[in-house]
Amino acid sequence: MFTSNRILVVEDEADLSDIISFNLQRAGHTPLQAHDGAAGLTMAKRERPDLVVLDLMLPKMDGLEVARRLRAEPTTASIPIIMLTARAEERDQLSGLATGADDYITKPFSIPVLMARVDAVLRRTSPAAGVSSSAIGPVQVNLDTHEASVDGEPLRLTTTEFKLLTALMQAEGRVLTRQELISRAMGPGIRVTDRAIDVHLAAVRKKLGDSGALIKTVRGVGYRMSPERETAH
Ligand code: CA
Repeated sequence: MFTSNRILVVEDEADLSDIISFNLQRAGHTPLQAHDGAAGLTMAKRERPDLVVLDLMLPKMDGLEVARRLRAEPTTASIPIIMLTARAEERDQLSGLATGADDYITKPFSIPVLMARVDAVLRRTSPAAGVSSSAIGPVQVNLDTHEASVDGEPLRLTTTEFKLLTALMQAEGRVLTRQELISRAMGPGIRVTDRAIDVHLAAVRKKLGDSGALIKTVRGVGYRMSPERETAH
């Protein structure tokens, strides 16, 4: 089974960034790109990707500082980081790992090596590693077959509705902002209104029947899904 992951590439060398992104995409992942440290930090906070490939030497804010700030923020602290460094000195590697990088690669590296490290880190850090279905209460989604069901009864969801439901279930009770939901269900950089997300989620809730109440609106923030039934707003 294969899970598509959203991977942020923070790299100021445009050619290298493009090559990495191209290969991530070819492997079935969804790459996001930022070309300086400050932009990378902002994007990581907003998109909460599944993994960050982070260059060490970056304009505006270096990779160590970006990693430090990601680790300091509760919402981004658990995002795995692979650090790219042009300096082979052990001191830098140790300092990168102490900052919380999960792995590092010294430039120049081959793309297959990077891709193997990406897979290894994702395998190691993904809470859903090897699991192709998840369930909250009577609601189940199967990522292999793209089927969703309530109490074993199949649901007829649109692709967007299925992705929204999956995103909420995989967040395991954590609140997702509308922007995160848009990014996960429709792809990064897609501009749709918050209202459009509300409409899609209203449709999902309706199709879930009684279990629709498991999806909760968190006022001023977004949505979360948890097994405790409460009144839906
Ligand atoms: Ca650089």
